[in-house]
Amino acid sequence: MSAEPADAVARGAAQVRADLERLVRIPSVAFPGFPPEPVAEAAAVTAEILRDAGLTGAELIDIPGAPPAVWGELAGPDGAPTVLLYAHYDVQPAGDEAAWTSPSWQPAERGGRLYGRGTADDKAGIALHAGTLRAFGGAPPIHVKVIVEGEEETGRGTFASYLAAHPEQFAADVVVVADAGNWRVGEPTLTTSLRGLAVLDVEVRTLRAPVHSGLFGGAAPDALIALARMLATLHDPAGNVAVEGLVRQAWDGRPVDQDALRASAGVPAGVGLMGDGALAERLYTRPSITAIGLDAPPVEGAANALVDHARARLSARLAPGQDPAAAIAALSAHLRRVAPWGAALELTPREAAPGALLAGGGPGEAAALRALEGAYGKAPVKVGSGGAIPLCVLLAQALPAAEIILWGAADDAAQIHAADESVDLADLEHATLAQVLLLEELGRR
Ligand SMILES: [Zn+2]
Repeated sequence: MSAEPADAVARGAAQVRADLERLVRIPSVAFPGFPPEPVAEAAAVTAEILRDAGLTGAELIDIPGAPPAVWGELAGPDGAPTVLLYAHYDVQPAGDEAAWTSPSWQPAERGGRLYGRGTADDKAGIALHAGTLRAFGGAPPIHVKVIVEGEEETGRGTFASYLAAHPEQFAADVVVVADAGNWRVGEPTLTTSLRGLAVLDVEVRTLRAPVHSGLFGGAAPDALIALARMLATLHDPAGNVAVEGLVRQAWDGRPVDQDALRASAGVPAGVGLMGDGALAERLYTRPSITAIGLDAPPVEGAANALVDHARARLSARLAPGQDPAAAIAALSAHLRRVAPWGAALELTPREAAPGALLAGGGPGEAAALRALEGAYGKAPVKVGSGGAIPLCVLLAQALPAAEIILWGAADDAAQIHAADESVDLADLEHATLAQVLLLEELGRR
C-alpha cells in the first residue's frame, strides 16, 4: 500500500469532522410528530456536502411518501466496476435531554470522541462517504453511486420499496453500507450476519370489565396475571427462548467477551445474563424475545379490582435464516397454547424484517478485509449484528449480484439510539481510509 491514500485522508480529516458537526446540528428526526423542516434541511445539507466533496451532480430525489433521498453518480474509468455507497441522514429522537452530558444537537468533543445525536448513526456514514470522494479529488478509480436516505430509523421502509422498484438505478458490483462499525474502538470489523425482527402485540381479556377483587378475586380470572403467566413461558429457567419453531444457527465468527458485554450493556454486578451457550450465538444467530411494552393500570391510583384486559408488545430478534412470518406464526401458536383459563387473545403483528447472511466470501469481501487491515494496521474480524438492518436484506434481495459490505465508524461505546451517542474521531478517519483503500483495490480489478 502506498502512503498516498493515508495522507489524502489525513488531510481531509478536519473537513470530515466539520461536515459531521454541521449535520449533527440539524435535528433531522423523521418520526411522525417531529417537524419536517430539519429533515428537509439535512437532505439539502447532505447534497451540498457531497457536491463539495466532488459528487458534482448530487441532487434530491423525490421518494413518494418519504423524505427525499440524496443521490449522485460519478463515472470512473471505462470498464471499471461500480460501487454504491449508502448512508442515512435521519436520526433517532434525542429522548430525555437531561440524560445527555452535553446538549444532544450540539457536537462536543470529549476524550477523542465527538458527542451528539447522529454522530455515529448515521451522519458519520455521510461524512465518511464525502471524505472518501474528497480523497480521490473527485476522480475515483471506479464508478461511484451514492445514496443517502432520510427515513431509515422510522422503519417505514418507503425508501427500501423505492430501491426495490428501481434496481437498475442502484445496480452495483459492491454496495458499501456505512451504518455499522467496530466491535470495539480501533478494532477493524466487518459485519457479516444480521438478525431479523418480528414484533407482536398480545392482548389478553378475561372479563367484560374490571370487578371488585374482594367479591370476585380467587375465582374470576385476572388478565394481568394471565398475561404474566404467558410471558413467563417464553423462556426456559436459564433464559433461553422456549418457543417451538424459532430457528437457531451456529456462529463461527468472533466470540463475544462476557465482561465486555456486561460492561457495554450496563448489567450490574450480581445480575446474571440470560440464556446459556456461546454468547455470540445468543446475540447473533439465535432468537431472543423481549417484552418492550405493557398496558395495564398504573400502580399509582390502582383500584382493588381485577384487571379485565392487559396488553404486551413482544419484540423478537430472529436468526439470519428465519422467515419473520413463520416466526410470528410460531410465537402466536405458542401464546394461544399457553393462555390460561381460556382467556381471549388478540394478536396483532407489527414490524417484521428478515435477517441476512451478508458474507458471500467473494472478492468484494476479501478486498474489504484487506482495506480494513491497511487502514487500521491490524487484522480485522467478522462479527454478527443482533440488530435488524432491513435495508441490507432488501439490498441483498434487490441486487442479488452485488456484494454487501457493512461497516462504519461506530463502536460498542457509541450509544446509538441512546443518550450521549458518540463516534471515535480516530476511527472515523480509519473508516474513511478503509473505504478509500477498498475503492482503490476494486478499481485495480
Ligand atoms: Zn443507522
